[in-house]
Amino acid sequence: MGIGIDLGGTAIKGGLVNTQGQVLEERTKLTESHRGYQAILEDLVELINDLLEISPNETIVGIGIPGILSGDCGTIVSSPNLHWKNVALKKDLEVRLTQKVLLVNDATAACIAEASFGSIFKKANAMMITLGTGIGGGLILGHKIITGAHGVATEVGHMVMGENFYNCGCGKNGCLETFASATALVRYCDMRLKQGISSTLAKEKILNAKIIMDEAKAGDVLALEAVDRLAKYLGMAISNISDLVDPEIYAIGGGLAYAGDFLLDKIRTATMKYLTYPDFAVPEIVLAQLKNEAGIIGAANLSHYIITRK
Ligand SMILES: [Zn+2]
Repeated sequence: MGIGIDLGGTAIKGGLVNTQGQVLEERTKLTESHRGYQAILEDLVELINDLLEISPNETIVGIGIPGILSGDCGTIVSSPNLHWKNVALKKDLEVRLTQKVLLVNDATAACIAEASFGSIFKKANAMMITLGTGIGGGLILGHKIITGAHGVATEVGHMVMGENFYNCGCGKNGCLETFASATALVRYCDMRLKQGISSTLAKEKILNAKIIMDEAKAGDVLALEAVDRLAKYLGMAISNISDLVDPEIYAIGGGLAYAGDFLLDKIRTATMKYLTYPDFAVPEIVLAQLKNEAGIIGAANLSHYIITRK
């Protein structure tokens, strides 16, 4: 058994995960990040202690964090979702608990979950890309999780793909997540509607990615244009990643992945267009399997991967 915590901007979810990757007990608290670091820290301790009451012999607690970690994986350097900068979460938890605490970026946690029990099970060279409000990534090379010199190795959402009509939250222009996230899909359709293009989307008061995906499936011209544009940039990004590290498989997760093969086929077609060696070095592109519990399952399995950089 293992304890995994998925610390998100909306909810803190913790669970006991068995060796088959099943979440046996789950506890949830609302994050309410406006309360500040100390309040969330105390909630984390309470939630972990609740789980320890059920399984008292646990020696490690794994936590997935929506942010950038320091080189020793002890400090959260920056988490825009939680409004945290330079907080020593590992140390602050370890003085309150008898367990060892391991921290990891949440996209990396999802990647570990998929590698341990899901779509990229036991793959030696695999990339996971999560398409949500932003875009996250996790990379496994030679069965090891890659986090880089500064912990930002798989920030694929901020690879610059070309100029775009709005700036990324990170301050740059042209990041992948401004072309290919759920947010990007909505921004693009809003922009085109303002230009006066005719579309069934015009009747919606507030657009979201699900509406756009569903309308694209139903054949709406603008929705299709937006999804094709998203797939094109993902295809470009995947081919670039393949040029660099050549994964055998890509798992696509996050909120947009619900669109299933409709989206995946478009990403596969776009990727084929940009691959340098489409005749013999074509990666598989599949859907992630573990959905909402991936963060908990990955966090509970951190100790099986080398994640400490120093
Ligand atoms: Zn960016």
